[in-house]
Amino acid sequence: MSKDDDSTKPEDFQKSLNDLFKQLGNANFSFPEVPGGDVAAPEEKAPVESESSHLEIFDFDYQPRDIKAYLDRFVIRQDDAKKALSIAVCDHYNHAKYLRSVQEEDGSLPRGVEFQKQNVIVVGPTGVGKTYLIKHIAELIGVPFVKADATKFSETGYVGGDVDDLVRELVQRANGDVELAEFGIVYIDEVDKLASKGGMIGRDVSGRGVQTTLLKLMEETEVPLSNPSDMKSQMKAMMEMQMGGASQSKQKDTINTRHILFIVSGAFSGLDEVIRKRSEASQIGFTAVKKQSGYDEEVYRQVMTQDFIDYGFEAEFVGRLPVRVVCETLKAKDLANILKYSEGTLLKQYEREFEAYGIKVTFTDDAIEYIAELAEKEGTGARALMTVMEGLLRDFKFELPGTSVTELVIDQKLFIDREKSLEHYRKLGQKVDVEKVRDSVGAFCRRFKKDHSITISFDDEALAALLDKAGEQGRNVLQICRQFFNEYQFGLKLVESNTGENQFVLPAKAVHAPQRYLSELVVASYKQGDDEAENVKPS
Ligand code: ADP
Repeated sequence: MSKDDDSTKPEDFQKSLNDLFKQLGNANFSFPEVPGGDVAAPEEKAPVESESSHLEIFDFDYQPRDIKAYLDRFVIRQDDAKKALSIAVCDHYNHAKYLRSVQEEDGSLPRGVEFQKQNVIVVGPTGVGKTYLIKHIAELIGVPFVKADATKFSETGYVGGDVDDLVRELVQRANGDVELAEFGIVYIDEVDKLASKGGMIGRDVSGRGVQTTLLKLMEETEVPLSNPSDMKSQMKAMMEMQMGGASQSKQKDTINTRHILFIVSGAFSGLDEVIRKRSEASQIGFTAVKKQSGYDEEVYRQVMTQDFIDYGFEAEFVGRLPVRVVCETLKAKDLANILKYSEGTLLKQYEREFEAYGIKVTFTDDAIEYIAELAEKEGTGARALMTVMEGLLRDFKFELPGTSVTELVIDQKLFIDREKSLEHYRKLGQKVDVEKVRDSVGAFCRRFKKDHSITISFDDEALAALLDKAGEQGRNVLQICRQFFNEYQFGLKLVESNTGENQFVLPAKAVHAPQRYLSELVVASYKQGDDEAENVKPS
């Protein structure tokens, strides 16, 4: 139904409600804009689909290897994670497709089909590509994707976000299409912070409560589309009802989580100790690995359900996360490969950023390796690449725009002798600019000659100095010439009368201290005049 058909327009309804609240003395309260605002659906959003809508996801036709091949374009390393996630995603959406096809043929869901959802738990330190992997999977298969940190949530009654909000956010990401949202992917990071055993970083009661809430979502539940404790969304629901009239009553007001794929992750520091202890006690299923400091993926790979439970998770919670994936830490070589080969490489971003200032940058291999080595030391995975590059290139990004440098070759030497390199590019910028300013300074000199019959010109250093002054004062070179040399003819005429000279090449000194230079010139001319007179005196 179009909005024009409505007997009560939402704007009118909104106005009436606002008026009502004003009357009640709550003039500060205002309702969300319709449409738009942070809860209302933006105008371009698709209307909520009807039951019979066709979703692309039902054309799902990927093999696990297709998904991995796609991920390989962006994500470096993490082969195990790519494989496990590709399989989990294919199984998940193939199953959803199967149920749907049976339902379409028979009119009801097939009975007795057992399927355990392949929710995934990803273990891995920060910045190794966990989010990046999942985001790209969601993009490829065209389902909405929501990410949140487990630390933001709390059990009802505690301060914090509501876990159900995540599911509702999927609807927003799906442009209001509830049916599509029901096949979305919810990714929760820092789930290790929900561990509840003493001694761990967990949050005990609250953490356990969130686990239970998540458990329900991961299984199957109906989540109301509007948050019962959020006044705005309640009002929005009311308004939508008002807007939709009778036909709207057929629409769903809940979202079912049966087909939502849940992926949780965390660094799980300390879990390696749990694994070691268990394995040392039992000596079963553990391949002894030399202890190393920091994140040791070889140990994490041997994780068992009991280890998660000992770490502080509810058995039911871990049970709903059957697929386990362990990410690798990224070494300097991997970080260099990310820069060189990932389609999302930061180098492209830097190239674009410099290009906006008319500067073409190229990175040499040794610069990439240098960046990667520094980044590895930061210990924040690929995130450190940005930090390191920003630090190394900040001065260049600040100084070169606006000069005439049009090419910047970024090699290791540039970083190591940063000051020298900067100086080199500064000079280069000026040199090229000198050619440009020569023209406008020429115009001033020609005018000067015409008005005063004295020829002046500036040497290269003086031109560079003029350019500097212009930069400092935010004026152009011609204006600087006028400001400094407009009265020069008086002094120069004196020099001419003393020496006969009427052509002057002004050096940088004249630009730095115009008056002093002219005075010195005049004084010298008198001296020269005297000397000459002396010389012609008959002996
Ligand atoms: P996390 O593992 O903490 O979720 P992210 O996936 O958010 O880390 O990584 C941050 C950024 O670093 C990504 O947006 C991506 O640009 C880059 N990145 C991280 N890991 C990889 C990787 N293995 N391959 C390519 N790029 C990566």
